[in-house]
Amino acid sequence: MDDCIFCQIVAKKIPARIVYEDDDLIAFEDIKPQAPVHILIIPREHFPSLNEVPEERKSILGKILLIAREIAREKDIALSGYRIVLNTARDSGQEVFHLHFHLLGGRRMSWPPG
Ligand code: 5GP
Ligand code: ZN
Repeated sequence: MDDCIFCQIVAKKIPARIVYEDDDLIAFEDIKPQAPVHILIIPREHFPSLNEVPEERKSILGKILLIAREIAREKDIALSGYRIVLNTARDSGQEVFHLHFHLLGGRRMSWPPG
């Protein structure tokens, strides 16, 4: 996936401020943070969005959530609160078509989202 910016981050072809990585996942700071803590957590494997994650790869989804929880603890926002966002396809505003979860925290957020 040479034209995918997040695949290039996975391959370390473009830099990112990585906060966590293992054999399946990588987590890094968003380049345009929308909150004091704004981390993106992505699978190393390329899926354009949640819509394309096959049933046999479903374990990656739970793993991402548990790593997000762990990062929230490390960033000291677990108790104050945080939001995990998964934009999917056009109406959500998804801009990068490599599955990614946003972890946002460190400020009070409003509801509903825009
Ligand atoms: P989406 O709207 O697709 O859910 O969110 C994409 C996110 O990726 C945005 O928050 C955007 O700031 C972030 N982003 C886009 N390009 C890059 C990049 O090259 N590096 C990093 N660290 N974040 C990026
Ligand atoms: Zn990709």
